[in-house]
Amino acid sequence: MTKTEPIVQRLALIGTGLIGGSIARAARASGAARTIVATARSPETRKRIKELGFADQVTETNSEAVKDADLVIVSIPVGASGAVAKDIGPHLKQGAILSDVGSVKGSVVRDMGPYVPKGVHFIPAHPVAGTENSGPDAGFAELFVNRWCILTPVEGTDPAATEKLSAFWSALGANVETMTADHHDLVLAVTSHLPHLIAYTIVGTADELGDVTQSEVLKFSAGGFRDFTRIAASDPTMWRDVFLHNKEAVLEMLGTFNEDLSKLTRAIRRGDGDALFDHFSRTRAIRRGIVQIGQDSPAPDFGRPHPTLPDAPVPKPYASDDS
Ligand code: NAP
Repeated sequence: MTKTEPIVQRLALIGTGLIGGSIARAARASGAARTIVATARSPETRKRIKELGFADQVTETNSEAVKDADLVIVSIPVGASGAVAKDIGPHLKQGAILSDVGSVKGSVVRDMGPYVPKGVHFIPAHPVAGTENSGPDAGFAELFVNRWCILTPVEGTDPAATEKLSAFWSALGANVETMTADHHDLVLAVTSHLPHLIAYTIVGTADELGDVTQSEVLKFSAGGFRDFTRIAASDPTMWRDVFLHNKEAVLEMLGTFNEDLSKLTRAIRRGDGDALFDHFSRTRAIRRGIVQIGQDSPAPDFGRPHPTLPDAPVPKPYASDDS
């Protein structure tokens, strides 16, 4: 990661799981923050942050963490963001930037906004990067490299503050884009929330099948099922909150999805091979487009290592029919 001059003097991280822990590591590796202060809800996590050593200071409370910080990033499940904003609001420094990383933005604006004091710049954000793992051990400095971070500043936000937060995320390796919270929630409903719901559904369905044993589902999972299991292993608390807080957009996208599923169901029932072929050709082009713009590896099978064949036996001399 390229080294930069500090963009913020004091960075406070509230919540240090996969995302908060990755921000801390990336901020340290890039030099984007001079001092990193971190805290978490549980004593176990706070102890673990100290052991991992990715923060300069670990505080017992949220209010101690945000004291004198010029950038505060809240990295917790979206359902808890209002309560945390209420807790830290009175302790935020004048001129500080308050941000978050939640996967839903409309509800974060609604729940945190009322507790942001005058003179504090509130700029919600969402780094579109992650893994199926959680907790402070799961984080790593390179998580945001070449991934998008979407900023959703509310109307009237000081452009200089938005610029500073954008520079911070760029230093962590991310590409930054700005949009409204509502538009973010619609886009992410298609690209992230719906795929997660489908993966949770398929994996649950396979688990409940009567005619196919569980051991068969696991054994033959390379047929496609296992690619859904990575997504379906994502954190249950985080995803419960995503669906509860982006309800409208997810229901809208689910309506469209159900219509498309009905079309494919009909094509299968009628034996309409052309309809199936056309549809699958379009989707294959989308996958290639994602690889082309560098949002996934071109390696086949998601770059999984494939064992080489064991040494082939020395072939016996060929016995021809006329010998
Ligand atoms: P995580 O690894 O499970 O970490 C969650 C952190 O939040 C932990 O520090 C936890 O503290 C704290 N926390 C949990 N419940 C809390 C509550 N009720 N009040 C205060 N703190 C609480 O989760 P994560 O993956 O980093 O996700 C954090 C946020 O990032 C979520 O809003 C999620 O939508 C967003 N996000 C996630 C991903 C992803 O792929 N995971 C990607 C982009 C954005 P303790 O450890 O002390 O319990």
